[in-house]
Amino acid sequence: MNQESPDTTTGDDPFGRADAAAVARDHAEALAALADALDGDGTPVDREATGEWRTLFPGDVVTPDDDRYDEARRVWNGLCEAAPAAVAYPTTAAGVARVVEAARETGLGVATRSGGHSSVGTSSGDGVLVCDVGTMQEVAVDPDARTATVDPGVTIGELDAATTAHGLATPQGVAPEVGVTGLTLGGGTGYLSRAHGLACDRLAQVDLITAAGERVTATADTNPDLFRAVRGAGGAFGVAVELEFDLVSVPGELAMCDTWFPVDGTDDVAALLREYRDLLREAPRTTNVSPYVTRVPDEAGFPDDRAGDLALCVLGVHGGDPDEGERALAPFRNLGADGVDPLFEYADRRPYVDVQAYLGGGSPADDHYYWKSVAVETFTDALVDHTAERMAALPGDEDTVVVWPMGGAVADLDAGATAVPERDAEVVLNFEACWSEPTDDDAHREWARESADRARDVGTVTGELPNFSGTERGDEAARDVYAANYEWLRETKRRWDPDGVFTPSGRL
Ligand SMILES: Cc1cc2nc3c(=O)[nH]c(=O)nc-3n(C[C@H](O)[C@H](O)[C@H](O)COP(=O)(O)OP(=O)(O)OC[C@H]3O[C@@H](n4cnc5c(N)ncnc54)[C@H](O)[C@@H]3O)c2cc1C
Repeated sequence: MNQESPDTTTGDDPFGRADAAAVARDHAEALAALADALDGDGTPVDREATGEWRTLFPGDVVTPDDDRYDEARRVWNGLCEAAPAAVAYPTTAAGVARVVEAARETGLGVATRSGGHSSVGTSSGDGVLVCDVGTMQEVAVDPDARTATVDPGVTIGELDAATTAHGLATPQGVAPEVGVTGLTLGGGTGYLSRAHGLACDRLAQVDLITAAGERVTATADTNPDLFRAVRGAGGAFGVAVELEFDLVSVPGELAMCDTWFPVDGTDDVAALLREYRDLLREAPRTTNVSPYVTRVPDEAGFPDDRAGDLALCVLGVHGGDPDEGERALAPFRNLGADGVDPLFEYADRRPYVDVQAYLGGGSPADDHYYWKSVAVETFTDALVDHTAERMAALPGDEDTVVVWPMGGAVADLDAGATAVPERDAEVVLNFEACWSEPTDDDAHREWARESADRARDVGTVTGELPNFSGTERGDEAARDVYAANYEWLRETKRRWDPDGVFTPSGRL
């Protein structure tokens, strides 16, 4: 099999609904058998009620001739719209094994979907069999063992709510609506990462349905090669059906701040970023501070006469004692040599779930997104200048550049311990393009790509964060993302998925 997924970045649409229908027709018998085997009752699970955008059909298989097909194939990133041959909704691990068997029988590749928020578009694909495990949604917390056992369809918000009820948490990303499984298997950065590691670093065990259709457990001691690979390159190796996380204590409330500084051009931004970088170098690992740019909204709480102006926002969260946190965050709130008056300031203590929700909902489904990240070994003056130049000249109102701090617990592991290569990076530069008009695809994508390429020219790059790495597929993209880990990942792929059943689910 080993088919390369089409490059969704070219704007070509070699595959449409009609072609997907033709593929489904070719495999009608196997897909009908699959539908019988999954034996769903066809009852839609309406996740609108929980603030989600998807409507799911548990236990069902939806093909292109089905009225529900357009809803079933919908993905969060409008840029990555695809026409799969079918979308299957298994509700148990045994059902997932049936989907994988059907994929082997038909020769269709599997794209696995859990939370449905893939930024890189790898949870669907033209002519593939989508295995949507989003309806598997149980979480069990063992407060004595300090572990959480999580079904693959659980979202970050659901996991946070379950763990913090016991004063515990595990580092996850900063948007409650995103899936725990996709985020964790792509590495996973969040507010607690400098304090407690990437999301995948706290994964103690994962059970997967492999290409052979078998359920296997992967831990540091059992199938360690698989365990090493799935933490960062997960989708390419199997369908995760259960994850177990080690939990850490979190205080009842965390200190956080969000300060918006006025900036007028590249020099202003560069001066603030330099100061930020120097403070970050001295900050305790519990401190996570991230600058990004945005436009001042025309809303209450912001100065009227600055609406539409560019602001450098400095968002900080401290993962430890809130008194210490307020002290650690204070210098970041006072950037600017002569004390710049902020355009907006928020500083308070919040429960962890509310911290996690602070930015939530800001990235609507169906818009077009193309995110490119580069992990830089040292945030040199040259890289600061490049970042500032890009921040000061955004191509559109929704585009942004985010500087994400690394170090601390992220650097406690070696670069080859998991698939995520950027353990020694000081920061990650995320060039995040967002727009809504398909006619603007090329311009925004090009801006993000060029920004990342120029960062590669100016500094030493250790790889890309898998969760923020463009929409390209294939070998070249895999080498860019996994850098020094690429060769052993390929070898592990040959062992566990020699025929490329899960190739559409990742870059390998
Ligand atoms: C609004 C928003 C905010 C974000 N913030 C962060 C952040 O703070 N930190 C961060 O690291 N990332 C962040 N991301 C990126 C996010 O982590 C990735 O897009 C992630 O892959 C989404 O996971 P999902 O389960 O929702 O997506 P899906 O679309 O379901 O899956 C994403 C990928 O994971 C694979 N996958 C999903 N389920 C399984 C499974 N059961 N078994 C095997 N493979 C599977 C898929 O095949 C696909 O490759 C954010 C994304 C969005 C949209």
